[in-house]
Amino acid sequence: MKALRGIAVSPGYANGNVVVYRSPMLDAVERRTISTDEVEGEFKRLCAALDRAIEEVSVVRQQVAADVGESEASIFDAHAAMLSDPVLKDHVHVGMRENLVCAEVALADEMQAFAKGLASSGNDYMSELAMDARDVGNRLLRHLSLDEGKSPLAELPPHSVIFARDLMPSETVGMDRKNVTGIATESGGPTSHAAILARSLAIPAVTGLNGLLDSAASVSICLLDGARGSLVLDPSDLQRRRFVGRRRKFELSQSLMRLMEREVCQLRNGTCVKLLANINQGSDVDLVGEHNLDGIGLYRTELMYLSAHSAPSHPIQSRHYNRAAAACGDNPVTIRTFDFAVEKHPLFLSVDPSSSLELRGLRFALRQSRLFKSQLRAIVRSAKKFPNLRILFPMVTGWWELKEALDLVKVVSEEEQLEHKMPIGAMIETPAAIFALPEIIEQVDFISIGCNDLAQYTLAMDRSSPGQTISECSLHPSLLRAIRQIVETADRENCPVGICGEAASDPIMAGIFVGLGIRELSVSPARAPVVRYTLRHLTLAEAKRAADCAIHADPSAAMGELQTIFPPELRSILAMGSRV
Ligand code: PEP
Ligand code: MG
Repeated sequence: MKALRGIAVSPGYANGNVVVYRSPMLDAVERRTISTDEVEGEFKRLCAALDRAIEEVSVVRQQVAADVGESEASIFDAHAAMLSDPVLKDHVHVGMRENLVCAEVALADEMQAFAKGLASSGNDYMSELAMDARDVGNRLLRHLSLDEGKSPLAELPPHSVIFARDLMPSETVGMDRKNVTGIATESGGPTSHAAILARSLAIPAVTGLNGLLDSAASVSICLLDGARGSLVLDPSDLQRRRFVGRRRKFELSQSLMRLMEREVCQLRNGTCVKLLANINQGSDVDLVGEHNLDGIGLYRTELMYLSAHSAPSHPIQSRHYNRAAAACGDNPVTIRTFDFAVEKHPLFLSVDPSSSLELRGLRFALRQSRLFKSQLRAIVRSAKKFPNLRILFPMVTGWWELKEALDLVKVVSEEEQLEHKMPIGAMIETPAAIFALPEIIEQVDFISIGCNDLAQYTLAMDRSSPGQTISECSLHPSLLRAIRQIVETADRENCPVGICGEAASDPIMAGIFVGLGIRELSVSPARAPVVRYTLRHLTLAEAKRAADCAIHADPSAAMGELQTIFPPELRSILAMGSRV
C-alpha cells in the first residue's frame, strides 16, 4: 500500500486497474537495450514506422495544400525529405547495432544530435529545420509506439485508471472514454487542457503526483480521490471501506444537486444568472440539454483540428457548428475561433516548442490567415441557417488585431451573403486586453473573461504546472480586482460580460463572481449542478460579502473565512468534494 498526494482537478472517485501510459517524446525515451539477435527485428520495426510516417506526411501535405494553401503545405516537403533520407535509416541502424539499443533509443539519439547540429549552425534557415527534425522524430516515435497505427489509449480494459507523466489534449480526446474511470498524472495544472477535458467528461482526475510512474511499477489496483487529490496504490481493506464511504457521500450530494437541475439558475433573492456550457467537442452538445443550460458560452473549436490530419473542410466544420446550434434552440452558441498552443496544435501545423507565446490566440490566427478565413467561412455558412451562432475571438491583446479579424468576418459575410450581423465577442484573458478594454468594447457585442489565462498572465503562474487548485489561484486579490474592473468598465459601456474560465465551475468562485457583478457563467457541463445548487442557496448580499471578503483577504486564508459567509446547508454539501 502506498499513498500519494497531488492536486484535485476533477472531482469524483475512481476505483480501478492501473494502466501506465508513456507518451512518446524524443527527450523522454526509455533506454531499452537489446541483444545482437534482436537488431534486425528492431530495424524492421523502424522501416515499417518510416513507411507509415512517409505515407502520413504525404496525405497531410495533399490535404493541407487543398484546404489551406501551397505555402503552408510546403513545410511537409522538408519532413518528407528527412523521412526518406537513406542516411537517417543507416545512422539509426548503425546506432542499434553498435550500442545494442532498441529502435526508439537509436532514433532519439540520432534525431537529437541532428537537431542540435542544425540549431547551432548559426544559419537561420538551418535553425528552423531543427524544429522540423524534432517534429519528424516525435512523429516517428509515435508510429513506433503504435500497434497497427492505434494509440494505446484508444482501446482500454474496463475500469482503467490512466497513469501518465502528462496527457496532451489530443491524447485525452482519443481515449477510450467508456472504459476510463480516472486519470492520474505527474504534471499538468488544474487549468491545463487535459484537466479541462477530464472535468468536462466528468472523469475524476488528480495531477501533481510526484513519483507516480516510479511508484506504479508492479501495482495493479488503485483508489483515486478526485475531490481530495489523493491516490492510494494497492489499498488495504480499511482504505477501501473508507473510500467507499466517501464515494457514497459524494454520490448522494451529487444526486441531491441533480434534483435541482430543472430549476432556473437564480439566487435566493431572485437575481437571475445565466448558466452556459463550455464544450470541447461535438458530442458535448448533448450535455447542454441534459444539464438545462442556457446555451454554449465557449466552444473550444481547436480540438476539432487536433484529431485531424489536415484542416477540416467547410462542410465538416459546419456540421459541428450546426449540430451545436440546433441543440440550443434560441439560446446563444459561442464559437471560439481556434486557439492553438504548443500543447494543443494540430498535426498538420509544425510548431517550435520554444515559441510557446507566439502560438496563441488571435495573433496566431491572423498569421494563419487562410486557415482562419476558412474557419470564419464555415461559421458564417452555419449562421445563415442558425442565427443563434456568435463568434468569440481568443486572447485579444489590442484593438488593431481585433479590427483585422472583424474586417475578415465582414468580407466573408459579404461573400457568403449573410443577411444579419453576427454577434462578435472578445476574450479578455491578458492584462493587455484590460488596458485596451475601452477600445475593445467599442468594437464588439460582448466580452468573455478567460480567467485561466488571465490568472496565468496576471499572476505569473504557469497554468500547466501543478501547484495550486483553481480556487486557490483564483482567489488572488489582484485577479479579483482585475475582474471587478472589467465588469465595471463593461457595465458602464452597456457591454454584456460573462466568464468562461474554469474557476466559474467552482461553486464558491461562482458565488464570488456573481458578487463581483457577473451574470453569465460558462461552466463545464458536468459542474453545472453544483454551481446551480450553490447559487440557488445564496443571496446577492451574501455573494457580494464573499466577493468583498476575498478581494481583501490573504488567498491562503480566504477559504476558511468564505465558508462562514456561505449558508450552513451549503457548507456541508461543499465539504463532500464538490470543489475544483
Ligand atoms: C481561459 O483562458 O480562461 C479560457 C476559457 O480559455 P482556454 O482555457 O481554452 O485557454
Ligand atoms: Mg484561454
